[in-house]
Amino acid sequence: MLGYVSKTETEEGEESIFGSSTRIHFQGCNMRCAFCINKSISRPPYARGAIGSKEIIEEVKKIGPVNSIHLITPSHIILDELLPLIEALEPYGTIVYNTSGYDSPVDIQALIAGEYIDVFLITFKFFSNDVAFKYCGGSNYASVVKKNLTTISKHYQLEFKQSGYIKRGLVIRHLLMPNDLGESNKVFQFAASLPNEVYFNLMDQYIPYKIPKRFKELKTPPTYEQYMVSVNNALTAGLDVKKSDRVRKCLTSEGQ
Ligand code: SF4
Repeated sequence: MLGYVSKTETEEGEESIFGSSTRIHFQGCNMRCAFCINKSISRPPYARGAIGSKEIIEEVKKIGPVNSIHLITPSHIILDELLPLIEALEPYGTIVYNTSGYDSPVDIQALIAGEYIDVFLITFKFFSNDVAFKYCGGSNYASVVKKNLTTISKHYQLEFKQSGYIKRGLVIRHLLMPNDLGESNKVFQFAASLPNEVYFNLMDQYIPYKIPKRFKELKTPPTYEQYMVSVNNALTAGLDVKKSDRVRKCLTSEGQ
């Protein structure tokens, strides 16, 4: 059993560059984020039953072609199972590999070499290994994600279709954390130094959801003012975050 399928329309997605999307939500996750808002999908007991590759393909066919097909957190699925599924999904939309970046570098190399993926959508959570270990359980998370982003960026330049939707490239998401636990400035500088330009989405929607009592520092979301400071820091680092919908809306409301 792998996961389940859902569909979102353009305006519902996190980034409008993806357009209408069919989403394959893989059950389980190789991270254990204390602030995960999808615990009913990422860890047992799961809220809904999962279906296998064959049924996933049937559901995707039933939905029909869309702009993008998102493979959400498949990092723990073995490639022998994942690759045939990706091949079957290719006719239905741009294939988006959407993970926290805590993927085996060998798997990432194989996905790139086989041209399986059109867009890598990586959520770069924490810059430091020790902080990532404390809040997400991945002892070498930061080292792995940096290695993977560097590898991907070498092979992926941003390309857009005439419609404005993304065709190929690397998209990095970064969620502004309470007390700057993600070390956002370092994340910005790293992203800006990658070999090719990335589409960078600085997210402001941190929600303190079912946070364990021992992590008091995770209970207060960043303020709007802190978010705007971070936007300016990202711009100063050289990231064109104005392309991202969320940043654009905030800057427009500020009259910038
Ligand atoms: S990476 Fe973290 S936040 Fe995302 S699904 Fe997995 S546990 Fe949840």
